[in-house]
Amino acid sequence: MTDMPTPRLAASEFQQRLLAWFDCYGRHDLPWQSPRSAYRVWVSEIMLQQTQVTTVIAYFERFMVRFPTLESLAKAPQDEVLHLWTGLGYYARARNLHKAAQVALAEHDGELPTESIDALVALPGIGRSTAGAIIAQSTGQRAAILDGNVKRTLTRLHALSGWPGKPGVERKLWALAEYYTPTERLADYTQAMMDFGATLCKRSTPDCLSCPFDDVCLAYAEGAPKRYPESKPKKALPTRQTIMLMLRDPEGRVWLEQRPPSGLWGGLWSLPQFETHSELNDWLETNAVNPKRETTSPSFYHTFSHFRLQITPQPVSCDRLGGVRESGVWYDVNHPPALGLAAPVKALLSQLTPFSLNPTPGHA
Ligand code: SF4
Repeated sequence: MTDMPTPRLAASEFQQRLLAWFDCYGRHDLPWQSPRSAYRVWVSEIMLQQTQVTTVIAYFERFMVRFPTLESLAKAPQDEVLHLWTGLGYYARARNLHKAAQVALAEHDGELPTESIDALVALPGIGRSTAGAIIAQSTGQRAAILDGNVKRTLTRLHALSGWPGKPGVERKLWALAEYYTPTERLADYTQAMMDFGATLCKRSTPDCLSCPFDDVCLAYAEGAPKRYPESKPKKALPTRQTIMLMLRDPEGRVWLEQRPPSGLWGGLWSLPQFETHSELNDWLETNAVNPKRETTSPSFYHTFSHFRLQITPQPVSCDRLGGVRESGVWYDVNHPPALGLAAPVKALLSQLTPFSLNPTPGHA
């Protein structure tokens, strides 16, 4: 408990306010609430992991008609399970659900091992929060949950900074979640925590004026509830460099070469690229007749998902190629052929005229 921030309310007061809210505004007629078996709660929890309640209801009902028991799910062909999941997305969830049902059938007599969190999380696709939700809702035993909705509510109540996925922050959130969890009305409390985040302390429109915690919520007191929870920090992308040769002939045409079929810009047409100026000089010496380098153009960046490419265009004019290049075309900017072009190359070419050799592209 040393990691726990100071609670904003005594646990009993928190529970009492939350359950009073839930009795009036919570969701009491969800299909997995009656009967509330471990199997039904489990399936609903897995479906709800990336999907809203309103979407899940119809999928859940169809699933239960076809697979009313854990055994029927375990014995079904995977194709049929995936078929009933079609449209929900994140199919690893369905595959894990199916696998976990088979393990439960083989190792736990066809029942989910709800006697402990550890036994449940040993099954494929069940994390600590899902295990807590299954135990609390189907057995009424005390178990805490910490899904995205609960994280949002707790970070706001305590103005807890840092991304909740960070181990240190998550530890604090688990400590708070455990602290506030009651010993009675576990199914209602668990549903209440989920409903509260989903319908009142919403991500972009928290309804603070209707909130039973408005007098103790630190994020509300700061006047900026949406500041919490903090987003995942973006990693700085590594930068790579390339020099792009803009070789033009006396007619102003630009030499392009096709990229290899796979990899970066696979199969597209691009300017010849070099890591260093000496590599570029070697290329010119071998391939171009009477090359004349112009002033290097300003560099610009092209961003890929996993790195930034710093591109330095190097304009050069020449009389012609020396004849050793085979896989390329002279690209006429006035009558452009229909070629697939790499995005920054397209931007560079679009700024050329037959008389300009120094393009100044923006960010492509
Ligand atoms: S006061 Fe607003 S931010 Fe705080 S818990 Fe309530 S709804 Fe969420």
